[in-house]
Amino acid sequence: MVQPIMKDVLFLGQKSEEATDKDTQIIQDLKDTLEANRDRCVGMAANMIGFRKRIIIVSLGFADMIIVNPVIIQKSQPYDTEEGCLSLQGVRKTRRFRKIKVRYQDESFKDQTQEFEGHVAQIIQHECDHLEGIII
Ligand SMILES: [Zn+2]
Repeated sequence: MVQPIMKDVLFLGQKSEEATDKDTQIIQDLKDTLEANRDRCVGMAANMIGFRKRIIIVSLGFADMIIVNPVIIQKSQPYDTEEGCLSLQGVRKTRRFRKIKVRYQDESFKDQTQEFEGHVAQIIQHECDHLEGIII
């Protein structure tokens, strides 16, 4: 189901909780809501559609990837950039890392470890910040 985009900074400022296999409806809603906002959005965290669970969705260009309970375990090559967010007006400066390694569960709740770089790595870092209650 397509959900409205959360803009309440008090809600968005709270940390999200571990997700479990009971949260599959949130995964579906993230897919539907990203699809509905595809023209202006490349990723989303569950709290942006009202659920404080550690699930994010990231557009890889050719497909969308669901990442559950992500933990960034390595990061390298920092750089300064600017980002926008569907939950905010305008852009803000931030520091990101070109390469990251992430431990997470996939859509089937299987444990995975994967390296990401470039734009996809940047989106993941932005969405992981959301899970910590950080908005850029
Ligand atoms: Zn955002």
